[in-house]
Amino acid sequence: MSRHESIKPEKNSGSRPEMKLALLGGERVVPSGRIIRWPAAQKEHLDALREVVDSGRYHRVNHPIVTGMEQNLATWAGNWKVRAVGSGTAAIHIALDYVKNRGEHVVTAALNWPGAVGPILSSGLRPEFVDVDIDLVGIDQAASVERFGADVSAVLITHLFGNNISVPHARSAARAQGVAVIDDVCQSIGATKAIFNGAHLDSDALALSGNGAKHLGAGELGFILTKDVDLIEHVDRVSLSSSSRNGERIFYPHSKAYNYRPNVFSSAVANKRIYDLDDQLQVRRDNGETLWKMICGLSGLRPLFNPSDDNQSMLNFPVRIEPEALGFRSGPEARNLLVQLLEAEGVPVSVWLTKPVFEYLPNIPDHWRASDFPNTVKILDTMFYVSEIAPPNGPEVMELYAEAFHKVWEALSTVGPKLADIAAGTHRT
Ligand SMILES: *Cc1c(COP(=O)(O)O)cnc(C)c1O
Repeated sequence: MSRHESIKPEKNSGSRPEMKLALLGGERVVPSGRIIRWPAAQKEHLDALREVVDSGRYHRVNHPIVTGMEQNLATWAGNWKVRAVGSGTAAIHIALDYVKNRGEHVVTAALNWPGAVGPILSSGLRPEFVDVDIDLVGIDQAASVERFGADVSAVLITHLFGNNISVPHARSAARAQGVAVIDDVCQSIGATKAIFNGAHLDSDALALSGNGAKHLGAGELGFILTKDVDLIEHVDRVSLSSSSRNGERIFYPHSKAYNYRPNVFSSAVANKRIYDLDDQLQVRRDNGETLWKMICGLSGLRPLFNPSDDNQSMLNFPVRIEPEALGFRSGPEARNLLVQLLEAEGVPVSVWLTKPVFEYLPNIPDHWRASDFPNTVKILDTMFYVSEIAPPNGPEVMELYAEAFHKVWEALSTVGPKLADIAAGTHRT
């Protein structure tokens, strides 16, 4: 703290903490260049890419690098057969395509990623939205069970931000009614492991993303994990027009030929990361927990899920605020201000989405209204997340983030909501 005061004594800002805010011309807390941004490339990733170049084969589902990676991920997660595909979105599409004849609807949460819901439409199915449980930030069990029935082919359970959405009642109710259970664990790679009281998720298919922003930080890549060998075979039927996976080339007469082949370069990078995955997850958890310990006393600030949970996958550190506790009206104004102020201090914060998922997809049938999903709207209005909590960033970086939070909160508690007007004024000049 003293750093800021000693450098600019002429500001004499002791009684006006807002004048020290970086947004208003003060010195930022997190120096530029201090943070290593994910995917934090290392030399071993370059070496892995070179290995692909040297192999002389840049594609192929049966490239030894791809099959080796599939095996390594299967060993790491346990329980599942693993098949690599082009993206997490492709994995969801293939899983839905496999179960689509069971019924016309797919039950899923209104708080969702557009890329997770888009494949419902590409499979010729209709999404059936339910609200989220505010404490879980995942699908509301009771609401989803109410929607299950003979017209429902699947429930798509999205695990956001690294949280684990176990929802055991929804799973068993789905089982009882012949509704397939598909888990989107694109942001929660650890949910593929035996972490649910020592068991794996009771799921028909898990869709995982290896894209550059996710834990495997590998470019463009996805995976299906399942115990169902027929679903593994279905991957090629949806994805390929022909395959020489098992040696001789065969052509699929009924192939959909989406060409969801895994990228071999991405697979090479992902394979390197699988070896460090437990360490990576532990650093992310430790960083999240360390940060939370330093900022949990700030008024009106809450984590989206428990940062001390040893099993979550903490992709980014999501928090939400209670606008009323900070003197604001409900709605996104307070959150937007805080994100603007923290960003100016150099903290890597982002607003996730601002609308329920159906408002991002123009071709959604039926008329879904945001007002019917109060928990979803509340989270979307009040949440933001801190990214760059992955290695090699460590506790020193978390301390800088926390210092910025304290600085911003101090100004906010002194000035109150009119800080929004002062901040807005910085744009008018
Ligand atoms: C990233 C993501 C996807 C899509 O994965 P891609 O590999 O980018 O296609 C789907 N669902 C969720 C929740 C995601 O975060």
